[in-house]
Order: sequence, then C-alpha cells, then structure tokens
Amino acid sequence: MTANTSAWWDGIEHPVRPSLTHDAEADVCVVGLGGSGLSAAREARALGARVIGVDAGRIAGQAAGRNGGLLLGGMAAFHHDGVTQWGDAAAALYRFTLEELLRMRRDTPHETWWHGSLRVWEDETEREDCERQYTAMQRDGLRVERYAGPEGVGLVFPDDGACHPVRRALVLAARAETEGATLYEQTRVCAVHEGAVELTNGAVIRAPTILVCADGALASLLPAAADRLRQVRLQMLATAPTDDVQIPRPVYARFGYDYWQQLPDGRVLLGGGRDQCEAEEYTTRDTPSASIQGWLEHRLRTRIGTMAAITHRWAAQVTYTRDELPVVDTFAPGVWGVGGYSGTGNVVGALCARGAARRSLGAPDAFLDVLDSARRP
Ligand SMILES: Cc1cc2nc3c(=O)[nH]c(=O)nc-3n(C[C@H](O)[C@H](O)[C@H](O)COP(=O)(O)OP(=O)(O)OC[C@H]3O[C@@H](n4cnc5c(N)ncnc54)[C@H](O)[C@@H]3O)c2cc1C
Repeated sequence: MTANTSAWWDGIEHPVRPSLTHDAEADVCVVGLGGSGLSAAREARALGARVIGVDAGRIAGQAAGRNGGLLLGGMAAFHHDGVTQWGDAAAALYRFTLEELLRMRRDTPHETWWHGSLRVWEDETEREDCERQYTAMQRDGLRVERYAGPEGVGLVFPDDGACHPVRRALVLAARAETEGATLYEQTRVCAVHEGAVELTNGAVIRAPTILVCADGALASLLPAAADRLRQVRLQMLATAPTDDVQIPRPVYARFGYDYWQQLPDGRVLLGGGRDQCEAEEYTTRDTPSASIQGWLEHRLRTRIGTMAAITHRWAAQVTYTRDELPVVDTFAPGVWGVGGYSGTGNVVGALCARGAARRSLGAPDAFLDVLDSARRP
C-alpha cells in the first residue's frame, strides 16, 4: 500500500517547475495552483494582466489532485435544499455550473468522461429526499431521471461527469503558460498583504491584485477568513484494476457522504465516511486515519462489492462554510480569498476563482452576481 499518495498521480511524469527565489512583480499574483488558481490565472491573462502563479508544492498537489474526480452540477447543497436557502438564485447557480461542465468538456475532452452521475438512496429518509430533489429539479427544468439498477435506486443526473483531476490540471497549467502566465512550484507563501506576497525564502512578489485560491489553506493564508471556514479532512482509497464490478458512472450515497467511481482502467476510487467520525475529521491533519479508512474498506467490500486489492489511501484538506456557499471576497484592498467549497470544488471552484479574477480586474461577473444575491437574506 502506498501511504497518503493519491492514485491520480500513478503514471504521471511531469517535470517540476522551478521555484521563485527572487523578488518579482506582476499585475496579478495567484496563490495556489489547484483547479481554482489555474482558472483564475487563465482568466486574468485573458483580461490582459501580467500573471505570476505560485504553489507551495506541485500543481494539483493538494485537493485538486486528491479528490474523487466527480464533476457535478449544482452547488454543495442538493438543489431542493438550495431552493429553500437561496430561493430563485438556486436554479440560476445550478445553470452556471452546467455551463461550466460544458466548458470543461470542451476544454479537456481527453481528461474528462461524461456518463452522468447517480445518487442512490439507502433508507426511507434518503428516498424521500431524492423525491424532493427530483421534484425541485423538474420544476426548475434541470435534467434529472429516476434510476433503478445494479448500483441501487435513486436519481441520474445526465449532465454530470468525472475527470482525471491531475491530468486535467496539468493540461490547464500548460495552457496558462502558453497564454503567458508564469507559474512556479515549490514556492511557499508565508504572508499576504495589500500589494505584496511574502515567500518563506524571503523573496517578495509585488502585485496590486492578489488572488488566494487555496480552499484548504485559505484560513491560514488569510486569517481574517478563518471565522467563515471550517477546516475538514476528506479521505479516499483506490483499488487495483478489477472487473469484479462494473460501475459505469460516478455514484454517491448516504446524502453524498460516500462517493465512488470506476476509472476506465478498472480501478475503483471510493471516498467519504466523514460522518462516521465527524469530530475527528474537523482537523488540520491531512493524513488518512484508521477509523475512516476502516469504514471505506467496509463499504468497498459490502456496498460496492469488489474484492480488489487496495493500493492507495489518502487524505487532503478542504474547507466548509455554514451556509454551504463559497467564500469569494476581498480581505484587504486588492487581496481576494476564494474557497470554502464545502467538499465540491471542482466545478464551483473554477467558477468562483474566474469570477474573482474578473471582478478584481474591473470586469463584471454574472456568476458572482447571482452568488451575491443568494447570500442576501
Ligand atoms: C478526498 C477529497 C475528495 C473530493 N472529491 C471531490 C469531488 O469528487 N468533486 C468535487 O467537485 N470536489 C471534490 N473535493 C473538493 C475539491 O477537491 C476541492 O474543493 C478543490 O480541489 C479545491 O480547489 P483549490 O484549487 O481551491 O484547492 P487545492 O487544490 O487544494 O489548491 C490549493 C493549492 O494551494 C497551495 N498552497 C497552500 N498553501 C500555500 C502556501 N502557503 N503558499 C503557496 N501555495 C499554497 C497548495 O499546495 C495547493 O496546491 C474533494 C476533496 C477531497 C480532499
């Protein structure tokens, strides 16, 4: 078993980019090069800004390269819960995520696959919740179908998909560089101020606009955001390739607490179980724990039904918010913090970070306008 290594990095050979060791200047400095930061960097370049992006480790080294790879329409809350909380804004937000899914499909066709996703219920309460979701989505004209099959009974969302998050991020990083952004790896930020980013090696990046796009590290980089965020560890495991199960599309169950998919090469990736030891998972640690891994293993054998060998176990940090809406805000003049995706940042993170890049450079952003309206009581 590989310790705390995401299965997504298997077979990836990619040269590490240099670290930044001298002072530098840009119009926009992006801190964090996961899916969100790369989206921000590309948008800022598209708007004509000189962009420097830095990451403490590797591109997609944290949550962006350690997640389940599910690309789901909607915000973190199920649509009917979103309608209750945000009114009409819920459907508008959902439609933005559908547009983003189309964009991902168009931009990275080889790193994504599109067979829909499946929510299955495991008890009567969840069945009733699926019904409420079905009714709310039908009413708002969002595509959803009833499902009964080998994975269980529930709902199919035909517009959803999945991705290889590491390959996808590396493609986007290469594009950002081709478009003119300068990206540095192994470049750790220790402080962010108005107009300046300080690195642990003593170098300083001066930029009037700083976009901190680091879901799991947002509170440590911008302490003023901390009271809006809850630090959470999420865990996964992966098996060797197997044909003892066939899982045609990503599945989530138990209100999304568990999620799994089978990759084109037959490996099964399973994540979740956070509710099984909830207090333990409110932590800043990012290594797998025996209790959650034990739960995942139990689910792998009894719920998914594969006996394939477990090859990888890993964990990473994300942040959750109380209202399940992400944080996209300024924390000092020109300093933006983006994160708090409540466990589902692959699609929403790209939208939020692109929006932050646009607003920070004076361009309008329709997604953020609707997000703002959802926050209003
Ligand atoms: C196990 C797991 C499963 C998940 N499954 C899904 C899923 O299936 N679908 C989905 O939509 N979402 C999922 N998520 C959530 C999703 O992965 C995250 O919300 C999303 O990746 C956050 O993107 P990001 O770019 O903000 O953060 P990250 O990908 O974490 O990127 C932030 C970057 O900032 C860098 N950084 C941190 N501190 C510093 C510093 N001091 N200086 C410089 N750089 C720094 C990090 O090295 C990192 O590369 C999952 C998350 C986990 C952990």
